[in-house]
Amino acid sequence: MTEHKETEEKRSLNFIESIIEEDLKNNKNQGAVYTRFPPEPNGYLHIGHAKSICLNFGLAQKYNGRTNLRFDDTNPTKEEVEYVDSIKEDVNWLGFEWEGEPRFASDYFEQLYEWAVKIIKQGAAYVDDQPSEVISSQKGTPTQPGVESPYRNRSIEKNLNLFERMKNGEFDEGEKVLRAKIDMTSPNMHMRDPIMYRILHQEHHRTGNKWCIYPMYDFAHGQSDYIEGITHSVCTLEFEVHRPLYEWFLENVYQEGDIKPRQIEFARLNLSYTIMSKRKLLELVQKNIVNGWDDPRMPTISGFRRRGYTPASIRKFADTIGVAKRDNVIDVALLEHSLRDDLNKTAPRVMAVLNPLKIIITNYPEDKEEWVNIENNPEDEAIGTREMPFSREIYIEQDDFMEDAPKKFFRLAPGKEVRLKAAYIIKCEKVIKDTEGNITELYCTYDTESKSGSGTEASKRKVKGTLHWVSAKHAIDAEVRLYDRLFIDEDPAGRKDKDFKEFINPESLKVFNNCKIEPNLKNAEPETKYQFQRLGYFCVDRRDSKPGSLVFNRTVPLKDSWSKKNK
Ligand code: ATP
Ligand code: MG
Repeated sequence: MTEHKETEEKRSLNFIESIIEEDLKNNKNQGAVYTRFPPEPNGYLHIGHAKSICLNFGLAQKYNGRTNLRFDDTNPTKEEVEYVDSIKEDVNWLGFEWEGEPRFASDYFEQLYEWAVKIIKQGAAYVDDQPSEVISSQKGTPTQPGVESPYRNRSIEKNLNLFERMKNGEFDEGEKVLRAKIDMTSPNMHMRDPIMYRILHQEHHRTGNKWCIYPMYDFAHGQSDYIEGITHSVCTLEFEVHRPLYEWFLENVYQEGDIKPRQIEFARLNLSYTIMSKRKLLELVQKNIVNGWDDPRMPTISGFRRRGYTPASIRKFADTIGVAKRDNVIDVALLEHSLRDDLNKTAPRVMAVLNPLKIIITNYPEDKEEWVNIENNPEDEAIGTREMPFSREIYIEQDDFMEDAPKKFFRLAPGKEVRLKAAYIIKCEKVIKDTEGNITELYCTYDTESKSGSGTEASKRKVKGTLHWVSAKHAIDAEVRLYDRLFIDEDPAGRKDKDFKEFINPESLKVFNNCKIEPNLKNAEPETKYQFQRLGYFCVDRRDSKPGSLVFNRTVPLKDSWSKKNK
């Protein structure tokens, strides 16, 4: 039943695909499907942007179209080149390629200026001399009409003259703005003579000091779509109320025969236990609450990457959640599920001990060592097996031993037996302690006939527990960082009475710097992913790991520990 339902769902189109297919059927835009991803370069991309990227690029892929990467860089005060570079890297990492070179709204400043002049000449825009507070006080409310500016009916000549002088830098910031002349009584507040241009005597990251007037988002965005021949301009729901304005601007500059972009809105992605506001993410970075934008706890694409997420798992997640027309919150566990699903198939299993406890196998010869054979991934036989060294001294996890073990403790305890994965059965004979009573070592014996895979009776003998281990003299040292969710509340940004920072999880990072890893990982390359047996999925940190001093990040535990912990 469920399977049937799933295939049915897979086959049905989402509402944006339905729109596109209808357009294609009517041969609208000569069958072109041209989308764009338009980030403002004022922060690093987050998982919400990833949703938008997968959607825009995915639609173009599905319908043989193209996608532009366009930087919406109309706000010179907040934008930086670092963000431009990170955004390009993130889009590529997710597995997408934009059409040609990246575009910049700032490349269109000249054209936008000419169109503004055209709109003034059509009598549909005017220069307002009032300060911004007065302009906003005249806006009215949704139920109360606004008040027309005394400058609204200036002559076209006067407006042209003033706008040109604005451009030439003759006025101070805030002294004048250009406004569209639409309707101060419109029930849609965005149609009440919105501002098209403001004066900012600021250097821009690309145009330098060439301009001191900058177009507002609504004017720049739609016209940039038009310049690029975008057919379907997909954006998030909060822009639905801007759509009449998007269309009004377009009507004022549109030329018959051109592609007319159509704005389509979908619900933005919200994730539980996650904040998605760039301003708040920036605050975490600036206050050093996290270690930069790509801190593995950040919901940024670069953070997920560093944490060990795969592009495929993020794309799969974006696909699974689909597109909605109403705001909703997606459980972050779904993203983690998509990740585990991918890593389970692709990440080789290896042995690593985070909190080592030394075991001396007293009946194993001192100078002997042997190699045991172990499969790399039971989910993927094609990647075969590897050899791991075994010797008289090994490490197991401190947690895997208890001196006064309860009955149900199926790991190692005095007098009890366990199997060392892919090797022998050992029995704990003696617990060695220091003068303060801390356990320092265990003396064990091994069943000489019990080697896994050797075919003997003892090799098939069942014992309750199987432990991961590494050979002490062969193991390599590593630092391992265990990450957990950054917030302990499902909706950390949703409380009016509390700051989101109050919900930071104090245990979101635990560092283990005395870990012992099997020697096969000696030359592990940054970003390689593994399953540390029984511990979770891990990856080599792309920033801090070096040959000889390896650093691993835990991507996710093997199971979702939160569903139990918090419910
Ligand atoms: P702001 O405009 O407040 O700086 P933003 O999150 O809208 O933040 P943009 O850089 O403007 O950032 O976003 C680029 C694109 O990504 C836009 O098309 C936007 O609609 C989309 N986007 C942003 N956040 C989400 C989200 N949570 N879910 C889906 N799409 C998103
Ligand atoms: Mg935005």
